[in-house]
Amino acid sequence: MHMNRAYNFSAGPSAMPEEVLLRVREELLDWRGMGLSIMEMSHRSKEFIAVAEQATADFNTLLEVPKDYTTLFLQGGGSTQFAAVPLNLAAAGQTVDYVNTGYWTSKSITEAKRLAPVNIVACSREQGFSRVPPQSEWKFSDNAAYVYYTLNETIDGVEFSFIPDTGPVPLVVDASSTILSRPLDVSRFGVIFASAQKNIGPAGITVVVVRKDLFDQARPDVPATLHWLVHAANESMSNTPPTFAWYLSGLVFKWLIAKGGLKEIEKINQRKAAKLYKAIDSSDFYLNAVEHDSRSWMNVIFSLADAKFNKAFLEQSTAAGLLNLKGHRAKGGMRASIYNAVSEEAVDTLIDFMSDFERKNG
Ligand code: PMP
Repeated sequence: MHMNRAYNFSAGPSAMPEEVLLRVREELLDWRGMGLSIMEMSHRSKEFIAVAEQATADFNTLLEVPKDYTTLFLQGGGSTQFAAVPLNLAAAGQTVDYVNTGYWTSKSITEAKRLAPVNIVACSREQGFSRVPPQSEWKFSDNAAYVYYTLNETIDGVEFSFIPDTGPVPLVVDASSTILSRPLDVSRFGVIFASAQKNIGPAGITVVVVRKDLFDQARPDVPATLHWLVHAANESMSNTPPTFAWYLSGLVFKWLIAKGGLKEIEKINQRKAAKLYKAIDSSDFYLNAVEHDSRSWMNVIFSLADAKFNKAFLEQSTAAGLLNLKGHRAKGGMRASIYNAVSEEAVDTLIDFMSDFERKNG
């Protein structure tokens, strides 16, 4: 690792693979002999179109996206999709079903309520969002346009370990903070969307994977910038796409392919999460209240049993080059986001720091 680079546990925007950053630096001023930067090039140029097509193809290869799906690279972040989902899938007045497992689903529900009657199928708020309610407890509505959930709750540290079964009702998932961390059976979903600034690339780009038969369901009044079919018909270039972010995402996809793809990254991610949870569980100094089979592989939340040590923990971890361990303000405590670009070495260093801190203060 480069000498001046710290270990970055930020929840997003988050760590990028160092190889990708080095490549960008190399190509920044003169992109592949063109005499200009990729960010200075028209999105309509044949060079940029080739970059975009390659990135899309590599994403589809990594996630094994079936042929009856379209992959879009859009602006607006995950939050824009909170509105785009009901607008593109629910007829006026049609009920939409949500499984609420935390902060980000709650946000999405607030947005959906402005656009459609929302039925909460299940909610774990009373348990402090510390578990995914099993499907046996869910209460679907009769005629929902879709069923929606958040695959990984970035703030609550809760991740689904199963794919819900919704029969013929399209399943929509916000996969922002876990996409590309392990394989996912795309064929089980109607729509998958993810903001990029965790496992895909820099902030400013959002991937939306839509099963093509669902394009028919859009309301007549959907604004063009939110209309999935408009974007699909224009290869995600109906307006200027976030070209630099798309290019960087493409470099991340190549990095992942070179690492052996999602089956290989899954093994590394599983090891990283398992050893960090083991370190937390085997100590009385650190706590994590999330039910074991709902624990996130990507965002490991923990608190110090005695909150008086929080300040010292954060100060000393920062001084040791372990950055951004403070939990989200809505949750408190600590959070280590250990996305694909966070190495096993970073996790080992964090575990060593934690046990050292406990020894000195416990
Ligand atoms: N969904 C999840 C699971 C997230 O973690 C986030 C952002 N952290 C969002 C949606 C919102 O994404 P954005 O900020 O890109 O709108």
